[in-house]
Amino acid sequence: MFESMPSLPADPILGLTVACRADTNPNKVDLGVGVYKNEAGVTPVLKAVKQAEAQYDASEASKAYLPAQGTEGFLAQVNDLVFGEGHSAVAAGRVATIQGTGGCGSLRVAAELIKRANSHAKIWISDPSWPNHASLLGSSGLDLAFYPYYDRDQQAIAFDQMMAALANTGPGDVVLVHACCHNPSGADLTTEQWQQLTDLALARGFTPFIDMAYQGFGDGLAIDAQGIRYMADKLPEVVVANSFSKNFGLYRERVGTISIVAQTASQADVVKGQMLNVARAIYSMPPSHGAAIVETILSNPELKSMWLSELDEMRDRILHLRQSLVKAIANTGCERDFSFIERQKGMFSFVGITPSQVEELKTAYSIYMVDSSRINICGLSSSNVAYVADAIASVVSK
Ligand code: PMP
Repeated sequence: MFESMPSLPADPILGLTVACRADTNPNKVDLGVGVYKNEAGVTPVLKAVKQAEAQYDASEASKAYLPAQGTEGFLAQVNDLVFGEGHSAVAAGRVATIQGTGGCGSLRVAAELIKRANSHAKIWISDPSWPNHASLLGSSGLDLAFYPYYDRDQQAIAFDQMMAALANTGPGDVVLVHACCHNPSGADLTTEQWQQLTDLALARGFTPFIDMAYQGFGDGLAIDAQGIRYMADKLPEVVVANSFSKNFGLYRERVGTISIVAQTASQADVVKGQMLNVARAIYSMPPSHGAAIVETILSNPELKSMWLSELDEMRDRILHLRQSLVKAIANTGCERDFSFIERQKGMFSFVGITPSQVEELKTAYSIYMVDSSRINICGLSSSNVAYVADAIASVVSK
């Protein structure tokens, strides 16, 4: 049965990590893979997580299955974190939230749910977007379409083009939007742009599907979720996939959530049953550990404040690295303006160089980034930022 299967090419980003690991240049820099790294180049376990794990371990009394939707304590904490305490839609019972397996698993369950609701739905994805969006959502069999999002000449959102493309949508359409820290561009919607997009959703009848994988990495927990909170208040239906991989550093624990904002509380109940049925047919029951840690942290004021300060630290480090890189490139006397990197949010930005310049950075300087010139800002550190800035200035000045 399997003998006729063709082998697939390696994932380009993972291939980059392997190539970087094999590189013996002591100055090598990995700006490829999308995980947070500290100054030492390590993706740490947060202190709040370590303490919560110790507490939870000591108190865990059973390994019997969790409730299929996750524990009530976890879900209540998540609703407060994602929608903000006392949100009108949550208070009205219009929000059905269940635990998911990371952001990816949550996106996939949401896509299967959308397909059940409307097998002719079309999902619009930003161009560019995180490549796995097309795989995760397209695997459900739904049609995909793409809307322009990033203007590579202006290094900013192509908002007018985006709105013009989405003006062609209708009630059967679902528009995937990144809540914050757009991957790969770092270009986020402003408050006014979220409002305009909401007005367009009302006018055209499309359903927004918001992917939040970096809450707290952009401007802070509340601002990063502003689009979700605003749309959930103004629109009849919103789909949200949320991940705790980055903001809690729980990557391998696979914890996230899916929330459906429905028109009424009774519709939300029906949708919840359907979501659980979708999940049952994929993985049956969610894993416990990551969600237990999130719940333990969010429900303990001391651990929560420790987590909040660690989250601030991660966000500040990213911001500081963005500023340092822009300054260091300017200090080389490079004529090209890279100040857009400072204005963008989260772990990623496009440097805005050609694939052959990306290649030159790799071969001549051992600086690794994907061909699109997307970099993970966290791969920088105070010890390599000048080296990277010199190298970028040198390849663009030729
Ligand atoms: N959405 C976006 C935009 C992402 O960048 C990622 C992770 N790279 C995810 C979702 C999913 O993350 P995970 O499954 O690891 O929680």
